[in-house]
Amino acid sequence: MLTRFTWPLILIAGVTSLGYGAAQLDLFAPSCDSPVEYRIGEFDTRFGISRAEFEDALSDAAAIWNEAAGKEVVVFAADAEMTVNLEYGVEQRTSQLGEVIDEEQAAYDAAKAEFDSLASQLSGAKRQYESYAAAFEKRVSDYEADVAYWNERGGAPPAEYAELQRTQRALNEQQETLNGYAAQVNTIIDQMNGQVDGLNTLAEAINVQVDVYNSRAHTDFDQGRYVVDENGTRITIREFTEGVELRRVLAHELGHALGFGHVEDPDAIMYSYNVGEELVLSEADLAELRTVCELD
Ligand SMILES: [Zn+2]
Repeated sequence: MLTRFTWPLILIAGVTSLGYGAAQLDLFAPSCDSPVEYRIGEFDTRFGISRAEFEDALSDAAAIWNEAAGKEVVVFAADAEMTVNLEYGVEQRTSQLGEVIDEEQAAYDAAKAEFDSLASQLSGAKRQYESYAAAFEKRVSDYEADVAYWNERGGAPPAEYAELQRTQRALNEQQETLNGYAAQVNTIIDQMNGQVDGLNTLAEAINVQVDVYNSRAHTDFDQGRYVVDENGTRITIREFTEGVELRRVLAHELGHALGFGHVEDPDAIMYSYNVGEELVLSEADLAELRTVCELD
């Protein structure tokens, strides 16, 4: 009566962290005597940020160096040689895919939680069915033993016969109750089986996207880059997901423009990977600033 079912849930792989591109040239480190000037170059609206918001982010990024230095070391200038560019490419599409994956994983987790709650209802309903079934079987076998006893003696006397008939009616009612419990079990199993396909389809879709994400993430996945070459001096931002992260990338690349190298503190703005979560300079950043800018 109880159907078997399986639910082959698929594990979902994690998402890797994002990195900065290394500065390509560290020659010509400017001292901080005259400020590094920047202006906005290419601006691609597909990032979903307005020009004013981008300007704000840049001035916030510049401000953390200026405040720490106690003077203006990096400033906006309409005629600056160095440009800061938003360049929409595979990196940004990958980052947006990462957000889609996060949302779908949340949807999957919610659906899975509902499924798990059904699984726990199922085990309760099964326990109820099984304990009632065990008691019922015991009563049936007692009844059958009584019937056999009287049959061997050529039939039950009227009082016993009436009693056996009452027992049989009671057993018929209990059989219906038992069938009702079985139906509850089967209803929950049907609900679970109805959700398994959806869950697995969602998990497969997420896994396909995670594969795409990971294949892109493993190839040249740089959020920003500071470049000095024959085409000029420029910062190119190719990927960001939200306000603080963008400001951290901008501050990092402005730091390269100021001549700062990478430092070994994971929370630092000048760490190789953008893994910190706040727009604040760490001690390692400040040490780099003091050394390169020759501050006291
Ligand atoms: Zn860097």
